[in-house]
Amino acid sequence: MTDVVLKRDKEKAVFQRHPWVFSGAIERVKGKPTNGDIVRLLNHKGEFMAYGFYNDQSRVALRLLEWNEETEVNEAWFRAKVATAVNARADILNEQTNTCRLIFSEADYLPGLIVDKYADHLAVQILTSGIEKMMPVIMDELRQLLNPLSIFDKSDASSRQHEGLETDNTVLWGDEPPSSVEVKENGIIYSINIAEGQKSGFYCDQRDNRRILAAHTKGKKVLDCFSYTGGFTLNALHNGAASVTSVDSSALAIETLKQNISLNKFDAEKHTAIQSDVNKQLRAFKEAGDKFDVIVLDPPKYAPSRSALDRAARAYKDLNRIGMSLLNSGGLLATFSCSGAMDMEQFKQVLAWAALDAGKQVQFIYQFCQPECHPVRASFPEGEYLKGLLCRVW
Ligand code: SAH
Repeated sequence: MTDVVLKRDKEKAVFQRHPWVFSGAIERVKGKPTNGDIVRLLNHKGEFMAYGFYNDQSRVALRLLEWNEETEVNEAWFRAKVATAVNARADILNEQTNTCRLIFSEADYLPGLIVDKYADHLAVQILTSGIEKMMPVIMDELRQLLNPLSIFDKSDASSRQHEGLETDNTVLWGDEPPSSVEVKENGIIYSINIAEGQKSGFYCDQRDNRRILAAHTKGKKVLDCFSYTGGFTLNALHNGAASVTSVDSSALAIETLKQNISLNKFDAEKHTAIQSDVNKQLRAFKEAGDKFDVIVLDPPKYAPSRSALDRAARAYKDLNRIGMSLLNSGGLLATFSCSGAMDMEQFKQVLAWAALDAGKQVQFIYQFCQPECHPVRASFPEGEYLKGLLCRVW
């Protein structure tokens, strides 16, 4: 095994069990490891610190796996981590819900591996060369634990590029998953297109938030912006919303949303789907004098990095300002940010600015977060990305 020596002043994060070592923190590499190899990280005195995946193509040159020198990071180690993560989701899966994230990368001690369950099908993302090398073992363990009908590679191309990996979305095991896999979440049926859908097919990170918001929608006129295939829309209809309007720019999302309405036998009369840019559509509502009782704003990630934060903050503020102005007095705004670079305090600040600009009074009545299938590891705060606020607006 190759030894990698850390710079003298870079020990703290490793000691605190943060799983990333940036290339700039490395003093020297003794030997020539191949990307994806497991190496031994030493401090400047030559003492063992951790084992990790090596990749000289990535800014994160080491992804640490194990801090105990006696624990060998072998096949059994990977099998145990996979089994622990999968078994930890047992309480989420039941008659009402057969879809969730089974493995969430660093948070589940498997840096670069994401596994999502869609009923009997699995969608995986392989984002590091180390995980790519271990995939035969990981797939074998997943098959033993879950006996899936298919395992589909849905790796995100840009993340793979950062690691110098090629991109090829293909079936890794079993048959090609059907273009419509029916899953259940909170008792609601969704058609998932694993191969063509966004991310791995579905945003299961909003499962709890959809349910929590739905409790406030009975008899209400609801607007679901950035609806995708209708997570918030369907939960609101399920809970007796008077009407729901869904807006998304993706044609496939809108088409699937309509399919989901009929799969659940919801009253199509109560639903309007608009394929449009949300910013344009909100302005159109404003001009037409349309108002709503509950508005959901669940935009894509506006801040991909810290450097994009200022611009993103302005975009979030504008979006929320116009959203607030479309609410009936005392209405509810459920607003989200999935930008990891923006924390809850900053998000509240953005909402305070939006309220000021809109001339509205705003109370935060609930704070949304990511669900338990997207855990945040104490030593890896970067894994926390989804936050939201339920606001009462006057
Ligand atoms: N709320 C959804 C998830 C939203 S993901 C759910 O519960 O499943 C973000 C969505 O925003 C995607 O469906 C994407 O197609 C859509 N989108 C991105 N930019 C948009 C824009 N400018 N106008 C409308 N929709 C947009």
